[in-house]
Amino acid sequence: DRNMKVHNFNAGPSVLPNEVLYKASKALIDFEGSGMSILEIGHRTEPFMAVMEEARNLTRELMQLDDDFEVLFLQGGATMQFMQVPMNLLDSGETASYIDTGVWSNKAIKEAKLFGFVDVSASSKEANYNHIPKQYTIATQSKYLHITTNNTIYGTQWNSIPETEVPIVADMSSDILSREMDFNRFALIYAGVQKNMGAAGATMVAVRKSMLGKVSRQIPSILNYKNHIENGSMLNTPPVFAVYITMLTLRWLKGQGGVAAIEQINNKKAALLYDEIDHNPLFRGNVAKEDRSKMNVTFTIDKPELEEEFLKFCKKEDIVGIKGHRLSGGFRASLYNALPLESVEVMVEAMKFFSLKKA
Ligand code: PLP
Repeated sequence: DRNMKVHNFNAGPSVLPNEVLYKASKALIDFEGSGMSILEIGHRTEPFMAVMEEARNLTRELMQLDDDFEVLFLQGGATMQFMQVPMNLLDSGETASYIDTGVWSNKAIKEAKLFGFVDVSASSKEANYNHIPKQYTIATQSKYLHITTNNTIYGTQWNSIPETEVPIVADMSSDILSREMDFNRFALIYAGVQKNMGAAGATMVAVRKSMLGKVSRQIPSILNYKNHIENGSMLNTPPVFAVYITMLTLRWLKGQGGVAAIEQINNKKAALLYDEIDHNPLFRGNVAKEDRSKMNVTFTIDKPELEEEFLKFCKKEDIVGIKGHRLSGGFRASLYNALPLESVEVMVEAMKFFSLKKA
């Protein structure tokens, strides 16, 4: 067994299940007895086509998507989706609504403006993005409403899906498959897979076919969702290894009991850490309690002169990846699906011990 020596709280790429890493390391040498590495087989051979099919089907199954949805694995990261979404869904002269909840929403807004009008329906910028806006009106003529369901940098998360008739597009990069949700309420969902779903290099896009083919602009072939759908997510050479790791991670998630089961564990992990933050006099949470993210826990230390020392102490305890994003400061502990509960227990112990030592 891989010795779980470090507790990996990285924000992404991040911790993956041990069994996924083992299986993938074997496949790097000999993929299912083929005498070739997974990196050496053609992407249009039967064994790889089966990997792609299984990854798409497992995503559909775990998210319980209805038949209007197609699941694709594309390249370019969630960042490419910031432009690919409006290019495919928003005609010039039309308006899309966006809710600004942080850095990633802002990047999405910037790209959308290249294709049509953007109505920023609400923003929590004035409060340094420490909450999710509660008051907003979505213009009925909007082609879609875009939200970022989990804000990786600031540590906030939407607890409920906005009530609107307008089709909803969501960037779920940092909370995809971490909690139960009515995914069929959405028109398009995208996520870089490198946090909860697999390895960097692939981006999952679940898109409703009924949303497509409505813009008048010419869309370059590689950026047209329709082409990817028609070609079974194999329009060109896909990121084979990233898709393989994703397929294994989805198998692992299904083996854990699926999204409902992992949500229970995720709730436990988040509760444990937030409880310590709320009760330990040395630490303080960054964001409004009702909007706290269960994936990215952001907090600060009340005595800033102890920040570096706490990081060093954690390093000695094999706790890695908890330095906060430069825009948010302090600490950020990411609790993605594959992070064991035990790692959070170790983290909480470290906080208790450090605090007592400094009292
Ligand atoms: N959206 C969110 C919510 C993210 O957390 C990230 C990356 O961390 C991105 C988008 C950008 O993803 P990518 O690096 O895959 O382009």
